[in-house]
Amino acid sequence: MSQRKYNLTENELPKFYYNIISDLPVPLPPVLHPGTKQPIGPADLSPLFPMELILQEVSGERFIEIPEPVREAYKIWRPSPLIRALNLERELDTPAKIYYKYEGTSPTGSHKPNTAIPQAFYNKNAGVKKLTTETGAGQWGSALAFAGAMFGLDVEVFMVRVSFEQKPYRKAMIQSYGANVTASPSQKTNSGRNILENDPDNPGSLGIAISEAVEIAATNDDTKYSLGSVLNHVLLHQTIIGNEALLQFEMANDYPDIIIGCVGGGSNFGGFAFPFIGEMLRGGKKIQAIAVESSACPSLTKGLYAYDFGDTGHLTPLVKMHTLGSTFIPPAIHAGGLRYHGMAPLVSHLKELNLIKAQAEEQLECFKAGILFAKTEGIIPAPEATHAVKAAIDEALNCKMEGTSKTIAFSLSGHGHFDMQAYEEYLTNNLGNIQFSEEDLLLAQKQLPKVA
Ligand SMILES: *Cc1c(COP(=O)(O)O)cnc(C)c1O
Repeated sequence: MSQRKYNLTENELPKFYYNIISDLPVPLPPVLHPGTKQPIGPADLSPLFPMELILQEVSGERFIEIPEPVREAYKIWRPSPLIRALNLERELDTPAKIYYKYEGTSPTGSHKPNTAIPQAFYNKNAGVKKLTTETGAGQWGSALAFAGAMFGLDVEVFMVRVSFEQKPYRKAMIQSYGANVTASPSQKTNSGRNILENDPDNPGSLGIAISEAVEIAATNDDTKYSLGSVLNHVLLHQTIIGNEALLQFEMANDYPDIIIGCVGGGSNFGGFAFPFIGEMLRGGKKIQAIAVESSACPSLTKGLYAYDFGDTGHLTPLVKMHTLGSTFIPPAIHAGGLRYHGMAPLVSHLKELNLIKAQAEEQLECFKAGILFAKTEGIIPAPEATHAVKAAIDEALNCKMEGTSKTIAFSLSGHGHFDMQAYEEYLTNNLGNIQFSEEDLLLAQKQLPKVA
């Protein structure tokens, strides 16, 4: 009988994060000041982030030590299991081997606490009292609220209005950890008030919520801002996923040919894939890494690779990334975590270097894959994670057609227990495919900042 689960002990929890910047064949384009269009320095970011995190953002070290209190907190749920999807393989009748790294075992049900915990730790160490942040579907807000409770920090969450209304239990979860949650756009900030003045029914977006959270942090001395994806230090923290998986594949006496992750801002994909891509860049086995986005918010496959703002209110520095345009408001798909106009600069850069592949998937096909996964493997995936499931199933079916046995590994970034409304709509045929407006996209891309 084949082994199903590969578990590491607490003692085997990796002691280092992996920093892919150290192995890049071409350096990452610099982050620019929006006014001067010149590269920014660490001091420019210090109103928003503590210095330890800023230094991680620009570090060239290959391995960065995980502080002991962070490892202690990780032990609440880590190491996370690597599971062979034997039932799914049988159902698909594929010669491929399918593994998934399951991040839904965290207290809040996704990979997000992997970075929330170290971010809270470094902020606490720097004497910060309060963190502000944005959240889409609520996964990040609840993760930071949990981390705030672990390290004794106040947390204020701006939650995208559509999700605030669709996902009341995420809201209650954030509050259970003692954090504050406000529907965004809100009356609490200039950015929010400006938007509501022109459009009182604005459904909100991650870009808007980021502006609100950044504004509060920038205007209060004891408050800093925390971002759940996109930035280098966030992807760095998430490499705990891939570092564990490297050890687990050693246990399994196997190694992936294909690595798959869904991408909103790129953090679970990067965290899972980068340690393997790093091995490849240093002369190890060649793998194919596939980033799977929503066809309703296709930054990697339809966006421009250009300098853009991280937020809608244009308070952040300019980063070079695949972007739909910071003024683009993505349609209200259920995979709220995939509704972001941009993509992590690191993921974008790897795509430009052809070190990863990107594809976009439709909402309905993804839910169909999610249901098949639930029926075979038992876990109901978060709507975001169904995108990775869909791509993994397609690769396994390709193997069947070609008669090849590849090893496919995907990141199951979270469970869908707070997303059952979406599943209910799917099961009652009330869910459709959602298209973005090409017109809105063109308009948003015309408004990209001009950088020489
Ligand atoms: C937030 C989230 C995502 C998308 O974010 P990334 O930074 O791209 O990983 C994907 N899956 C789940 C379960 C999430 O909560």
